Amino acid sequence: MMIVMKPTATEEDIQAVIARIESCGARAHPSRGEEVTVIGAIGDRELLATLPVEGYPGVEQVVPIIKPYRLVARELAADPTVIDVDGRRVGDTYFGLIAGPCSVESREQTLATARAVADAGATMLRGGAFKPRTSPYTFQGLGLEALELLLEAKAETGLPIVTELMDPRHVEEVVEATDVIQIGARNSQNFLLLSEVGRAEKPVLLKRGLSSSVEELLMAAEYVAKEGNDRIILCERGIKTFETSTRFTLDLGAVAVLKHETHLPVIVDPSHAAGRRDLVLPLSRAAAAVGADGIIVETHPQPEEALSDAAQQIPTSEFAAFAAEVASVVALMGKEIG
Ligand code: PEP
Ligand code: MN
Repeated sequence: MMIVMKPTATEEDIQAVIARIESCGARAHPSRGEEVTVIGAIGDRELLATLPVEGYPGVEQVVPIIKPYRLVARELAADPTVIDVDGRRVGDTYFGLIAGPCSVESREQTLATARAVADAGATMLRGGAFKPRTSPYTFQGLGLEALELLLEAKAETGLPIVTELMDPRHVEEVVEATDVIQIGARNSQNFLLLSEVGRAEKPVLLKRGLSSSVEELLMAAEYVAKEGNDRIILCERGIKTFETSTRFTLDLGAVAVLKHETHLPVIVDPSHAAGRRDLVLPLSRAAAAVGADGIIVETHPQPEEALSDAAQQIPTSEFAAFAAEVASVVALMGKEIG
């Protein structure tokens, strides 16, 4: 359940409610907003029903949470969550512009891309070290060597890194190197991996599964939050439908729904949804217009020679113009690039 405190509630009032919740063996999850504090009580439903906090001083209202997800539910936070990564922000009025190659392929390619996206005002650098490829015969990523290259790109540009973790056996190395841990679409319901990153000290970028519903995505996020890590960015990246004209069907309706259902930031990956570079700009504009908190886009110095996702990467030479077009829609929405 969720306890909404009065704007006049004192710290003592808040602490008394938290103590009451914890005395029942439930977990208290306070969220202090600008105006009010909301305290989530997470635990067994029947046990929570015995919590008579209504009469406590400072309590405005007690609301049951009827959704299956709890920690990520919109109601549980007083304000939208803003994820701060080394001073780059995603959420609320901050629009994250995450860009970089699909895969880290070489030192030159990684550094050239990092410089181009940094100059164009990107907020973070993406780049796959471990790649989830449909065919085992295609490029699988440079692995640990790629993490070194990303760190070099970060040292030069100052851009925080986003890279995918695929295997719990690489948790230590990936978490150490990266600033944001990406969980890819194919691992969206890998519950052991989700719990693992829930115990990590870095924010998580969680992609929607290829055939996951909005509720399944939120429950996946709940696995991460339940372990104590509530720094989660959700990502709509297109789903499988009967439509074949795009690689996946970008579900912008889901973004609007997610903004109602959760306090977490929601970004869009137009590159994997489109599968072709000419659609990336219109889908990015649409993402900003629907209220997304950012985009994650693939760009490469020579896209046609890319070792993965060649058709959808934007040439780095065109990235500044692309970023400027997106920024104009972001400004129309009353937001700024974080
Ligand atoms: C990626 O971002 O590199 C990627 C593989 O995306 P997804 O998991 O959404 O397919
Ligand atoms: Mn890719």
